[in-house]
Formats: sequence, C-alpha cells, structure tokens
Amino acid sequence: MNYKEMEPLLQSINTFSGPTDLRITDIKYTHITKAPMDCILLKIETNSELVGYGEVRDWASPTFATMLKSRLIGENPCNVDKLFRRIKQFGFHGRQGGGVSGIEVALWDLAGKAYGVPIYQMLGGKFRDKVRMYCDTDVEGKPDGIAMGKALKMRMDQGFSFVKMDLGITHLLHTDGALSAPLGLLDAMRSLDPDEYHETDTSLEYIQKRSKVYDLYNIAHPFTNIHVTEKGFDILEQYMADVRSIIGYEVPLAIDHFGHIGIDDCIKLSRRIEKYNPAWLEDMLPWQLTDQYVRLNQATTIPICTGEDIYLKEGFKPLLESGGVSVIHPDLLTAGGILETKKVGDMAQDYGVTMAIHMAESPIACIAAAHTATATENFLALEYHSNDVPWWNDLVEYAHKPIVDKGYLILSDEPGLGIRKLNDEVIADHLKKPQQSVWVSTDAWDADWSHDRLWS
Ligand SMILES: [Mg+2]
Repeated sequence: MNYKEMEPLLQSINTFSGPTDLRITDIKYTHITKAPMDCILLKIETNSELVGYGEVRDWASPTFATMLKSRLIGENPCNVDKLFRRIKQFGFHGRQGGGVSGIEVALWDLAGKAYGVPIYQMLGGKFRDKVRMYCDTDVEGKPDGIAMGKALKMRMDQGFSFVKMDLGITHLLHTDGALSAPLGLLDAMRSLDPDEYHETDTSLEYIQKRSKVYDLYNIAHPFTNIHVTEKGFDILEQYMADVRSIIGYEVPLAIDHFGHIGIDDCIKLSRRIEKYNPAWLEDMLPWQLTDQYVRLNQATTIPICTGEDIYLKEGFKPLLESGGVSVIHPDLLTAGGILETKKVGDMAQDYGVTMAIHMAESPIACIAAAHTATATENFLALEYHSNDVPWWNDLVEYAHKPIVDKGYLILSDEPGLGIRKLNDEVIADHLKKPQQSVWVSTDAWDADWSHDRLWS
C-alpha cells in the first residue's frame, strides 16, 4: 500500500481530542441492586464531552470513592499512574480497595477515549482475541449434587467451558451430626442468615441484629473450631461425585465457599475430593495466613487459589514467594484496578502461577477486567455471576451483545473500555433504596482535605 492509498485510512484515525488540556471536573455515582450483587457505578466528568466509567467493588460503600474527589478535581485524568499513586494510600484489602480501584478504571477509560485507543492496547496489546469466562452457579433450596450438576450442565450447553460451584459447611448446617462445634455456635448460625442483612434499614433493631451477624460471621477460620464429621465428609464427597456424574470430568470445575473451617478440616476435605479433579479450591483460609496456605498447598495436589480480597501487588507477594498458591485470583476492584492487576498477573507468572480474575459486578467491572485479561499472558478465566440477570447487558451501550456470548467475552476496538454510554433508564429501574435520583452528587466532598503525606 503506497502513501496515497493509506491517506484515507490515516484520516479515519482520530488523533485529536485535546488530551493535554483534559481536566477532571466532577465525580458522580449511582447505587444499583440485584445485579445480582449491589453495585456502585461511577462516572468522572471532564471539561470536555468525555466521561470516564468506573465501579466500586460489589457490596461496598460509595464513600470509598467519593472521599477521593478533592484529590482529583482539576487533574488531567490521562496521568493515570500519577493519580493512582496519589490516592492509593486510601485503599485497603477487601471492599476498602474499591474506591481507589474504581477511580483507576475510570481514569483509564478517559485516557483511552482522549487518545482514541482501547485500554488493552495501552497495556501492551493482546495475548488473546477472546476472554474465557467461568460461570458461577447457584441452586435454590436443599443442597443436592444432582441438581447442581444439571445446573452446571446447562451452563456448559450455553457455551461455558469452565464452571464453578460452592461446596462447604452451609451444605451441612441443617443435617444432624454433620458438623461439630462449641455448643450454641451452629444454632446461632442456623438462626442468623448473613444474606438477609444487606439492607439500608436504619432502625436500631435492624442495626443491632446486623452487628450480631457481623460478630458471628467474622470469626476467622482457625477460631470457629467447627469440624466436619465423617458423616459430613461423606455428604460432601457424594455431592462431588453426583456433580461429576452429570458434567463429566473434562470441564474444569472450581470450588468456592467452604465456610470457616480450620486448616486440618480443609486438608481432610481436599483429600476426599481430590479424585474428582477440581480446577481449584478457593479461599479455603483467610489469605493473610501465608504459612497455613503453604501447608495446605503441600498437603493436596488440587490447585489452591485465593486473592479476591488482596489490595495491591505487594499484598500478593508473600503467598507467591512462599509457594502458598497455584492460582492467584485478584478482583480488579480490590487489587487496585486495571494496571495493578496486570502487575499482579505478571508477578505471579514469574513464580509459575496462573491468574484467574474474580468479578461479580456490572458490565463496567466485567469489561475492565477483560482488558487486563486480554493483556496478561498467564490469564486463565474471568468470573461471571450475572448469567441469570436479564437486564445486566442493558446497563451499557456496547459493540457486542450479549457481552458474554457462548462463554466468552470479545472486547471491542473502541476507545477506553469501549462502553459508549450507560443506560440511565435501566439504572433508574434498579436503584438501591433509599437513593432517588439516577446519579448522586458528590458536592459534599468538594472541600474535604487532609494532610496526606505518609511521613514528616
Ligand atoms: Mg470467591
């Protein structure tokens, strides 16, 4: 192709949108529910028509993002790394990483839109043309391996090539003799369901009950002293056998939500289910317990996985250095966003560890994670929770619909995340009470200031 032939092509590339003069002017958020989780969507507005989309981690507080506003106003959003370093001291593990990470995603979206390139290209380009999604699966009612197997098989029939299910002590809680624990603890767990305490009810009675749930379900694994009996292990093993009898052995099946049991019971369980070839065992222990992870990983040949609650690359380092994990599983909206998660993946690769990505939010988080997944070599699969939420795709205008199609996500080549617009009408139909307006102003945070330096 000579220059004359190339000219129309070159003219079709947008190289002007004033990135040097771009400035952040405002941040707004909206809180939606049942996506299937509660999700907080962010938009960063600028002195141009460009708007950047981000998202705070599922089930978190918008405050983790809004409190950062006064550190960002007037700044050029294209300076993603500089701004990330300014705000990263205000993130932490679990949901507290959600504000910094959500803002980081929106900054990348703006930088991509300003320069006219997709985010994966700014990260170094593609390792793959489509992103493998793994589908989480729940079954209503009494735990039943046959029913779970059928539900997973339906996912596979839709094209999913990697699946996940839960297997743990909640399956045993209502069966006599399946668990042992200090007397009274199991009865308390049977009477208080943590899933019922996500509402914004402000009555004293509700708040006190929620505090009771907090105290009960925040006893870490080593300290509950809950043990699975041989009867309990038999039930869990049969569940696994029933699932595999339906879905076969070729499809990778990851397992999550074992409940708060100590390492000895984790090892016993892993030995019982090893022959059913799980793809990984997820979050069996609190991720902070590095030495216990090493012991667990050495006690089983099933890949051990954790990471969805770890903030920043340095948080992952002890587990990788010690050989405590075989699969690392960051959530972009806790780990520190798009670039930090790529760094986590690249570091894991040096230790011979593969990276799956945890994700349970709206299309914003999903597509953001897909950009990192596309640009990181040791990526395995990205989580997808919203297969059964009919309006999930309608939240955004996007080149490819459905966004997850036959078990894969194909990124568009459009700038930034590639999300053209959010659909305010769909958002308005799913607002979390008591929010009234579609987008919430953060003006209350404009004047917030503190002396942020971490040394004197
Ligand atoms: Mg998990």
